[in-house]
Amino acid sequence: MPGVGPRSAERIALWIVRARNDQPEQIARAITDTRQAIHPCALCGFFTTEEICEICADSSRSTELLCVVEQPTDTTNYLVDLLKNKPVLLTRIARGLPAGGGLESADELTLYQALSGRTKL
Ligand SMILES: [Zn+2]
Repeated sequence: MPGVGPRSAERIALWIVRARNDQPEQIARAITDTRQAIHPCALCGFFTTEEICEICADSSRSTELLCVVEQPTDTTNYLVDLLKNKPVLLTRIARGLPAGGGLESADELTLYQALSGRTKL
């Protein structure tokens, strides 16, 4: 499992073997149920329990605008090269989000400022 080192894996394995209740089976069922219920969205690849995710199914969203979120070191130059002869406008977020910082920790105002002040690449 990602993020679980050898010592943690050993502790978990021992707990599973020694457990006298059905918690290990409950956890196994939860993992199986999750694997069966959640799959990639047919349009964007985000996690969903439906054919199309909630974001793609939202009719109020623009279908002509795509926000690519990836590690800063991976994304930008590759996409610029890949899309340089395509009729698309590429922009970079403006400010407020630290390089390498996670979007999950940013507040709504910071995200708004970063997205509304995008600069053309
Ligand atoms: Zn989607």
